[in-house]
Amino acid sequence: MSKKAIIIGSGIAGLAASIRLINKGFKVSVHEANPYPGGKISEIISKGYRFDAGPSLFTLPEQMEELFLFSGKDPKKHFDYIKLPVTCHYFWEDGKQIKAWADINRFAEEVETKLGEPADHIRKALKKSSYIYDHLAPLFMHRSLHKFGTWTNKDALKSYLKMGKLGIFSTMHTANSKNFDHPKLVQLFNRYATYNGSNPYETPATLNIIPHLEFNIGAFFPKKGMHDITISLYQLAKEIGVEFTFNSKVDEILVEEDRAVGVSVKGEEFKADLIVNNMDMVNAYKTILKKQKQPTKLLDQPKSSSALIFYWGIKKVFPELGLHNILFSDNYKEEFDHIFHQKDIYRDPTVYINITSVYKPDDAPENSMNWFTMINVPNNQGQDWDKLISGARKHIIQKVNRILNTDIESLIEVEEILEPRTIESKTSSSQGALYGNSSNNRYAAFLRHANYSSYIKNLYFCGGSVHPGGGIPLCLLSAKIMTDMIE
Ligand code: FAD
Repeated sequence: MSKKAIIIGSGIAGLAASIRLINKGFKVSVHEANPYPGGKISEIISKGYRFDAGPSLFTLPEQMEELFLFSGKDPKKHFDYIKLPVTCHYFWEDGKQIKAWADINRFAEEVETKLGEPADHIRKALKKSSYIYDHLAPLFMHRSLHKFGTWTNKDALKSYLKMGKLGIFSTMHTANSKNFDHPKLVQLFNRYATYNGSNPYETPATLNIIPHLEFNIGAFFPKKGMHDITISLYQLAKEIGVEFTFNSKVDEILVEEDRAVGVSVKGEEFKADLIVNNMDMVNAYKTILKKQKQPTKLLDQPKSSSALIFYWGIKKVFPELGLHNILFSDNYKEEFDHIFHQKDIYRDPTVYINITSVYKPDDAPENSMNWFTMINVPNNQGQDWDKLISGARKHIIQKVNRILNTDIESLIEVEEILEPRTIESKTSSSQGALYGNSSNNRYAAFLRHANYSSYIKNLYFCGGSVHPGGGIPLCLLSAKIMTDMIE
């Protein structure tokens, strides 16, 4: 008879874990607190507009494809995507604009023409980025850091000798200031710290691994929008026999003699041989594991930044905007100081605008655009959010008006808002953090929870709050690392 696995949560890692475990011969059921799958990867539909509610940037698509191949399906028939020719459109207050072409040489030329930065600086920086990836990805992204074998294999031994070159001893900002002459380019490359909710002035230069994903490998867009990541995996899981129960909030993980034996939902007990927790780790220990020993040091680690998003239906088309757009702050250092130290919102925030209707016209009515307008904000520490949000809305509108020479408020016909408190209440993410722990020091990677419990047998963890970290590719990898441990 098949062994039974219960998964708590249907975030991307929970979905991926369900597909991997059923392929390993388990009978798998998923309990999801929400009435829908996907956790942070959901969508909002309002008055003719569709918005991807959470992630907007998609990298490393092979992590998705592997799940279909593994299940004997042709990925292209179930989940299709395109490679973006321009990864991002950058705008500054002084009128400068840069297109980050996927073609590195074209991007390097654009930077040389517009900023006077020697084109070769781009090529060299991206080579360094690929060097970090080649040395660290096998170690940090594909293996558990909590198993002895990880530290004695040949990839680890190679990396020990290269620690300095891998950026462990300097910050991202220091490294970028050496790589580039022009402050705008330093700012552009510092932005990659936000891809896991960190501060470029504190995070180690090792995180310069991220531009490698976007430039050397590519940025992609699912043809049916980001929400299709959830939908296609959910459909695959159902097709191969995973059972889902929605509105099924787990109240407790049942533990007998240091062994996880099931879960309890609204007083009903469900028994299993294996329990996988995809709920945010910190909130899981506070609630469904509250009777168990607490890994206090791991729980106390600082969290990543959060986000404030205005989903705006805009009744005009701006031809200068692409899928990903950044309107940079004039004082990036001050902005991050506000997010991570003052825990409030800077008056000149960097504004990110994601517009899927550029590639998927049916996401907005004719002659309109669906703007996902986001700024990075501190995680929730009980600030007066209503006051912060109304102030930020005013500043965002002023910035958009200045840079795009428009009156954006008069063009907004739909508005929905997501902010730290609602991110936490909708997905149970501790303090509304987008990516679990922040990576603002060189030890952060070692202070994430492992993909298994050291105290409770048969209890495993996957998702953005545990190893190897947040973001779609890492969450998919966490499910892989976790299932690879299970016989
Ligand atoms: P989550 O999505 O956190 O889902 C956990 C699930 O568990 C939820 O469905 C929740 O309802 C369920 N759950 C919780 N408690 C219980 C319980 N007791 N019982 C049952 N179910 C429970 N990543 C990128 O790669 N690119 C991006 O551009 C990007 N942008 C982002 C923008 C925003 C606004 C946000 C919010 C996130 C973004 N991310 C991005 C991060 C990415 O979305 C997350 O890292 C990832 O989706 C987290 O997945 P997860 O598997 O950890 O589960």
